[in-house]
Amino acid sequence: MDKHLMSGNEAIAQGAWEAGAAVGVGYPGTPSTETLEALVRHEDVYCEWSPNEKVAFEVALGAAIAGVRSLVTMKHVGVNVAADPFMAAASTGVNAGLVLLAADDPSCYSSQNEQDSRFYAAFGRIPCLDVADSQECYEMTRAAFELSERFDTPVMLHETMRIAHTRTLVSPAGTREAVAPRDYADDIPKYVMMPANAVKRRAVVDERQAALEAYAETCSFNKVEHRSEKIGVICAGAVYQHVREALPEASTFKLGLAWPLPARALADFAASVDACYVVEEASDYFSSRVRALGIELAEPPAGALPVAGELKPELIRAAFGEALPAHLAPATDLPPRPPAFCPGCPHRLVFTELRRLKAIVTGDIGCYTLGAVAPYGACHTVIDMGASLSMAHGMELARAQERTGRPVVGVIGDSTFAHSGITSMLGTIYNGGTGTLCILDNRTTAMTGTQGNPVNGVTLTDSSHKIGPLDNPTGKALDLLALCRAMGVEDVVEVDAQDLAAVRSALKAATAATDRLSVIVFKAPCRLIDRSRGKEPTIRNCRACGACVRIGCPALGRAKDGTAVIDPTQCVGCDQCVQSCPFGCITKE
Ligand code: SF4
Ligand code: SF4
Repeated sequence: MDKHLMSGNEAIAQGAWEAGAAVGVGYPGTPSTETLEALVRHEDVYCEWSPNEKVAFEVALGAAIAGVRSLVTMKHVGVNVAADPFMAAASTGVNAGLVLLAADDPSCYSSQNEQDSRFYAAFGRIPCLDVADSQECYEMTRAAFELSERFDTPVMLHETMRIAHTRTLVSPAGTREAVAPRDYADDIPKYVMMPANAVKRRAVVDERQAALEAYAETCSFNKVEHRSEKIGVICAGAVYQHVREALPEASTFKLGLAWPLPARALADFAASVDACYVVEEASDYFSSRVRALGIELAEPPAGALPVAGELKPELIRAAFGEALPAHLAPATDLPPRPPAFCPGCPHRLVFTELRRLKAIVTGDIGCYTLGAVAPYGACHTVIDMGASLSMAHGMELARAQERTGRPVVGVIGDSTFAHSGITSMLGTIYNGGTGTLCILDNRTTAMTGTQGNPVNGVTLTDSSHKIGPLDNPTGKALDLLALCRAMGVEDVVEVDAQDLAAVRSALKAATAATDRLSVIVFKAPCRLIDRSRGKEPTIRNCRACGACVRIGCPALGRAKDGTAVIDPTQCVGCDQCVQSCPFGCITKE
């Protein structure tokens, strides 16, 4: 069998394809995004992005109930969004296999929080497979579909960023299983979750749990490796790899099935070693459950393991009093690279003007969160997808503008607006709210890698054929202005986000109109999808006032005498600085 280097996400896609999955659906979110982007390359699987994770889960559940195997992918915070249908599906069951990929992000490399999705599996009492390398991503995905059908339940496949994005060797079969669609049959007691039926399904879930607990004791993905009799470590996922590196002599119980736990096998393992430990990252998922089974756990001898953040081998070695291996000291002479909007970014002028207005900005999830950092400091809350618009309304109810003298402005990106901003805005409209809401339409889902979304009309299939937002995509693009008007917003305008005077004037007018709700759609393509470069401007007779530098373009800096200078290697000729110099010193010649 040939071996291939694959990331965890690519291996999951390979496993889903080989398992005969017919539908793949999800919402882009790091670190899960590449899974569907790899799966869509197989023409015999239909894949699509959904507006949000709840919709994605429901699409996958509909496909599974109708009889075809379905994969649904999302990051950990997406599981929160999908929690409603997820919990119901845990009761109804699935018919054909339904696998939910939940991708966690310990250390919040690209997330607003750190959370462990396995708690959801335990909460819903559905099986959870925990992958430790790409080969397991491949094998467990295949097995997950079988488990799903065997126990008539959704199955969670749990990965972390370290597994999702690390390439390791995989030996795939390379052939697709011929899986015929299962028959669909009406089954109202099973699929209509009204109280009388839901009560009966509760008993089914109880029976399923007992069957799953019996299965866990013999599940081949739970692996005991006996080495030292002194130390035994219970672990899973990427942490297993770290434990093997940090404590090579320790015996290990690697939990491939993270829910339910094999109570007897764990007790036997604990009894086989002098001291049994749980090593896990950013969570007490295993330790709390293992202790609840009555198994005594020891504490690491040299200090506690961190309770937050991604675990690393050196942290495990330190906790167990092992010497750290010698390594080179990190370089200290690297130039700083603070996070910043790209040169030419269409968000820059909006945040420059919001700063000038001293607005209280309720922001949202996307690359425009960078409006919170220097030199803008013009984004004051970022909570969850869609929260910007509803929180602006909440601030209005608290009379924040009256009490501070500062306008309140909600700011949301196009993809996030489609994800869950529409219902947020509807709440404001419905209740007669006022204020200013900005939709930053940069024509793409930029932060996760320029995926399609309902606003730009780029389908996942379009993307797989390299059709982008500027190339006549085949999906139906949402008309933001028409939608806002249809929802009842009378004051809605579209503004060129690259035109400083227009941005300034639109924000000034909207924030001054305190008797109504104003929506501004700032439109201009993200630099990642529009790579065109204009001529670099020239600076003459600079008065060193710094106004242009304060727009925060990485291509603009200051010489020792304070005058502005342009780095021609970074400049894209967007003219934002040309518009920003109050003395007309920056020109295109
Ligand atoms: S034209 Fe000015 S603002 Fe635009 S990339 Fe070049 S230096 Fe930056
Ligand atoms: S805004 Fe104009 S005068 Fe001020 S530093 Fe920039 S180029 Fe010089």
